[in-house]
Amino acid sequence: MTVANNLKRPEPQALASTIEALAARFGNRLITSQAVRDQHAHTTTWLEPQPPDAVVMAQETADIQDVVRICTKHGVPVIAFGTGTSLEGQVNAPAGGVCVDLRDMNKVLEVHVEDLDCVIQPGVTRKALNEHLRDRGVFFPIDPGADASLGGMASTRASGTNAVRYGTMRENVLALKVVRGDGEIITTGTRAKKSSAGYDLTHLFVGAEGTLGTAAACSFETVRGACQATIMAIQTGIPLARIELLNAAQVRACNAYSKLSLPETPLLLLEFHGSESEVAEQSKNFNEITRECGGGEFTWTTRPEDRTKLWQARHDAYWAVKALRPGAGVVATDVCVPISRLADCVTETEADLERLNLLSPIVGHVGDGNFHCSVACDVNDRDEMARSEDFMHRLVERAQAMGGTCTGEHGVGQGKQKYLKAELGVEAIDAMRAVKQALDPQNIFNPGKILPTV
Ligand SMILES: Cc1cc2nc3c(=O)[nH]c(=O)nc-3n(C[C@H](O)[C@H](O)[C@H](O)COP(=O)(O)OP(=O)(O)OC[C@H]3O[C@@H](n4cnc5c(N)ncnc54)[C@H](O)[C@@H]3O)c2cc1C
Repeated sequence: MTVANNLKRPEPQALASTIEALAARFGNRLITSQAVRDQHAHTTTWLEPQPPDAVVMAQETADIQDVVRICTKHGVPVIAFGTGTSLEGQVNAPAGGVCVDLRDMNKVLEVHVEDLDCVIQPGVTRKALNEHLRDRGVFFPIDPGADASLGGMASTRASGTNAVRYGTMRENVLALKVVRGDGEIITTGTRAKKSSAGYDLTHLFVGAEGTLGTAAACSFETVRGACQATIMAIQTGIPLARIELLNAAQVRACNAYSKLSLPETPLLLLEFHGSESEVAEQSKNFNEITRECGGGEFTWTTRPEDRTKLWQARHDAYWAVKALRPGAGVVATDVCVPISRLADCVTETEADLERLNLLSPIVGHVGDGNFHCSVACDVNDRDEMARSEDFMHRLVERAQAMGGTCTGEHGVGQGKQKYLKAELGVEAIDAMRAVKQALDPQNIFNPGKILPTV
């Protein structure tokens, strides 16, 4: 599917001059081959790929500044590329332009263990950072499943399975260095944990797109029961590190893909962090809740290799869905509702899937009220695609009607633009447009994303 827009492609002469200037500056780090351009359009989304006109492999901040200066001069769009795992068409180039690939800017520059912070280049991936930190007794907690870049994660305000305890990128980014539309650099903050100094520019840009741990799995008779247990645990303040829902269809997919033998009913995967006595207390309290909600006994996985296997299976949930129906596409989407409405929203969503005869396992970072549907569908079957689109539309409307949002963590990109007005109102969108206009008057940066253009 292609999202309609009224963006104009740059004039051919302007594009040719841009590519000539970039070639003179970057030599063979400017790539215009079709194959590489295709790799920089979207691969994991349901939206049609829209390749850029050229790709520049950046190695340092000055490279990004020069790309921006050259493109601004000729009115050509610039699109940053982390690892391309975003799910709503964020790296597509609907008006063409130049993609700046940041994967070579992958150095961890400073680690301050005593302050629990570090300074990194944007192309460092979360797994690479954790590999770097492994021997220092600390870790970076945000894990959106994919091995995404920290720059891309900041840009989509990503979260994942650890957000209940450790927050999202919003809580974990202290400061950014940002290249402006004129190629100058803004520094948005310092390493201090908090600051009252002026406008909070860091959080304007973020989302502009335990040492002792124990994991457990608990099965439930119904998906409502599993959600109800989550709601009660959050409302009574049990400090869970992670709590992830897999509905019965997703458990079946994970068992087949990751060679597990979990009971094929709705399941909560949990992790408790803290001292031995704290973990014992948390799990006892949670166990009492699960009994009230139709939950079975916990299956404990204290051995690190078993824990890793269980969480890897959760992270591979998307690929498990793909394997359920070989050759089919997977249309992945997310919504987020206030925690008190979680059980209603997930139950109604399962009923809708059944009514529309669609195969879509559900997983959720349910401690945040956030859940994901992955519709496995034949993209060449017009009727099935129409039912999938109808389903996604109704899912968003349901979440919004319950006081929730059209996206908890995947972002707006192209796919969710049409829902912002209903969610935030025209005035808020006008305010966002004014911010975009002030910082990017020529609409050079990633045009056609977030703000509706038609
Ligand atoms: C299997 C799977 C599971 C996923 N599960 C989750 C999940 O649980 N939670 C979640 O939050 N997400 C999830 N995602 C989505 C995805 O991993 C996130 O959106 C991720 O944060 C994107 O990072 P990236 O490096 O791939 O960025 P990209 O896809 O390369 O870029 C994303 C956006 O950020 C911009 N961008 C990238 N780098 C920069 C930069 N340095 N400066 C400015 N802008 C930049 C791009 O232009 C684009 O608009 C999942 C994806 C997959 C494939």
